[in-house]
Amino acid sequence: MIHIACLHKYFGDHHVLQDINLTIGQGKVVVIIGPSGSGKSTLLRCINYLETYSEGEITIDGKPMGRKMIGGKSVQIPEKELNKTRQEVGMVFQSFNLFPHKTVLQNITMAPMSLKNMNRQDAEALAVSLLQKVGLEDKARVLPYHLSGGQKQRVAIARALAMQPKVMLFDEPTSALDPEMVGEVLQVMKQLAKEGMTMAIVTHEMRFAKDVADEVIVLDKGVIIEHDKPDKIFACPSHPRTKEFLSKVL
Ligand code: ATP
Ligand code: MG
Repeated sequence: MIHIACLHKYFGDHHVLQDINLTIGQGKVVVIIGPSGSGKSTLLRCINYLETYSEGEITIDGKPMGRKMIGGKSVQIPEKELNKTRQEVGMVFQSFNLFPHKTVLQNITMAPMSLKNMNRQDAEALAVSLLQKVGLEDKARVLPYHLSGGQKQRVAIARALAMQPKVMLFDEPTSALDPEMVGEVLQVMKQLAKEGMTMAIVTHEMRFAKDVADEVIVLDKGVIIEHDKPDKIFACPSHPRTKEFLSKVL
């Protein structure tokens, strides 16, 4: 479960996230939508502390991520503790970020071997099972260069899952893909949701959001302006900015 309380984030004087309060329950899927520059990526990046924040608190299954509230004040947690909690959060980016000179198998086994001290045999067995899960068991020995965008993104998902995270974050995972490859990636994400993975997803795939999200939040200028079930938000949005945004993307 992801719990975010009273989160504020500034870039210099720019107040990019303003008093974000959000709980994503165990096994729930929350889709984050909103105009460009509204703070969607920054919010995801705060959840695994790729981006620092100055006020508030984020916890993953009760463990503080970056900062915790002590006596009403938000205090930074020690680096060692932070790195441990980070391992419980998998992240997938628009741009795949695979290591180009490592095979698919090596891309997936690296983190569990170096960060979790998993032995090679176990890490490879895990990688093979994850490749089966994303439908790429025949690609273990190839370099990312030989894969399509959709295949690369499925490897990136398998790589994130190899750390056996408690939650998964997706930042526009299909935005860089040719249209015919979007479906295969969304299908893998749908399957993960079905298996009970807790997920926060930034996407413009509104049909996917309708099908898979338990809740949708709408960010606008760093503020959550709407937070509801997808049916409600898509059928009858209550905020004029949501209406305006949806009219452009639906
Ligand atoms: P998009 O839909 O275009 O991906 P977004 O909703 O993900 O947009 P963010 O990338 O989170 O938006 O950016 C939120 C705001 O913070 C924007 O105004 C952006 O210019 C600003 N911003 C993001 N990263 C930085 C940074 N490293 N330094 C300064 N400002 C930043
Ligand atoms: Mg973004």
